[in-house]
Amino acid sequence: MFNRFDYRCITAGIVRRSYLCGMQQKVRVRFAPSPTGGLHLGGVRTVLYNYLYARKNGGDFVLRIEDTDQSRFVEGAEEYISDCLSWCGLLPDESPSVGGQFAPYRQSERKSLYRQYAEQLVHQGHAYYAFDTPTELDEMRNRFRTEENPSPQYDRKIRKSMRNSLTISENETIALLANGTPYVIRIKVPEGEEVSFIDLIRGEVSFSTDTVDDKVLLKADGMPTYHLAVVVDDRLMEITHAFRGEEWLPSAPVHILLWKYLGWEMEMPKWAHLPLILKPDGHGKLSKRDGDRLGFPVFAMNWKDPKSGELTKGFRELGFLPEAFINMLAMLGWNDGSGQEIFTLEELIQKFELDRVHKGGAKFDYEKAKWFNQEWIKRSTAERLLPEVRRALHDAGIFAEEIKIKTVINLIKERCVLIPDFVEQGSFFFRPPETWDISAIAGKWNPSKKELFEDYMTRLIEAEWTASNLEQIFKSMAAERMIKAGELMLPLRIILVGGKFGPPVFEIAEILDRDETLARMGKAMKAWTIDS
Ligand code: GLU
Repeated sequence: MFNRFDYRCITAGIVRRSYLCGMQQKVRVRFAPSPTGGLHLGGVRTVLYNYLYARKNGGDFVLRIEDTDQSRFVEGAEEYISDCLSWCGLLPDESPSVGGQFAPYRQSERKSLYRQYAEQLVHQGHAYYAFDTPTELDEMRNRFRTEENPSPQYDRKIRKSMRNSLTISENETIALLANGTPYVIRIKVPEGEEVSFIDLIRGEVSFSTDTVDDKVLLKADGMPTYHLAVVVDDRLMEITHAFRGEEWLPSAPVHILLWKYLGWEMEMPKWAHLPLILKPDGHGKLSKRDGDRLGFPVFAMNWKDPKSGELTKGFRELGFLPEAFINMLAMLGWNDGSGQEIFTLEELIQKFELDRVHKGGAKFDYEKAKWFNQEWIKRSTAERLLPEVRRALHDAGIFAEEIKIKTVINLIKERCVLIPDFVEQGSFFFRPPETWDISAIAGKWNPSKKELFEDYMTRLIEAEWTASNLEQIFKSMAAERMIKAGELMLPLRIILVGGKFGPPVFEIAEILDRDETLARMGKAMKAWTIDS
């Protein structure tokens, strides 16, 4: 927990570090999620771009948990976020679990720290106490609601008719504070000013303060709101760059004003507001509901809502490799201009440039996401794929030796798009097919073919067990009997595999080994009836 001692260290830190002004500052970026549920792929892309920037510039990547809105807090969400980062290999240098010199990294544990800044703003005239009750706020909304303004905000005009330290006398304010009347502290947004900043992706962005409402900074329970906490912590944690989703752009003027009013010497973090990830048809932001509706994942990993028990599938569990997931996300809004699409994390670190991040939203395309996975599966060694494939086989009740799994991986990886495909395409290597799809040979299974297969089985008892030898014997037997080998291969495949799929059939036999091949053939010979 945060204590007085830490607090002194932090304030001392500010003083000490402010001497460093003017010197080249170490790059420090942060991902600052609120623990409210599963991690959307847009969130992981935000992590990725922060991470790439930090690594490229020899900086630090901080994970800060913004959990000051207790009403939106969801049990397990923080752990889930950390697990997602670990799965993706985007490990923070500082976080609630790894600690760091600016700990604590959970805002709820820093609660005692924010009030002084809110009060400083009140004393400077940039913020005020507001004593309005929830009923008074409702009345205000009803009173000022018009067709053009369906949800009136507490702003420069409305504040004048509300119960706050700007409209009541100082003595009354002191009395209300003294008798414990609940209050919030609101920023006093100035009238008629222009606030602007240089966004690293969009260039100059400006806002008129007349469109900005008097946001609450400190809530009645003493917790800061996101707006105050994000600014204070970016300062205290010496954040130099902040990349966040475009949906935070409207909050920028409030943050700029706060930074200015708090009078810090340190420059504000440089911001980049990342473009939205759009629905596949390009209309609007991609949401979890779109994933449910169109049948693809939107969360990085499975997320189970602790209240409803609803399970939302994630990319990981559907069989994506983290390398592919990261690669796909990097390309959703960025490219290096060369046409290259497959990048390792190391390459991304080298090549990532913010000025190549697009301003416009990026359409999500699930088929393209699968293509990235397929490419990554093809390029990965059996050793690399082993943990994922072994887990998928276990889930299907298949327990096999590592060496055999690796052989199978090498044989079928070209045919696999998602990890579960290894089970679908490869389970017959580990257990006999439960059914035979004999439709493809219907009407073609006759006594001479059956006899050939039985003779072939006899030859196999002693044959050298290599795919090429098995093939050679098979083909010469077919030639002797004037049967086209092609006509015999399909039944052999169906016997061994169960259907019309899989790698070359003699390679399958080689891996299955002599006993298993003979057992499968024997079973089929007994079961298959001759077509009339
Ligand atoms: N806590 C905010 C969120 O949940 C972070 C926004 C920011 O990065 O400033 O996304």
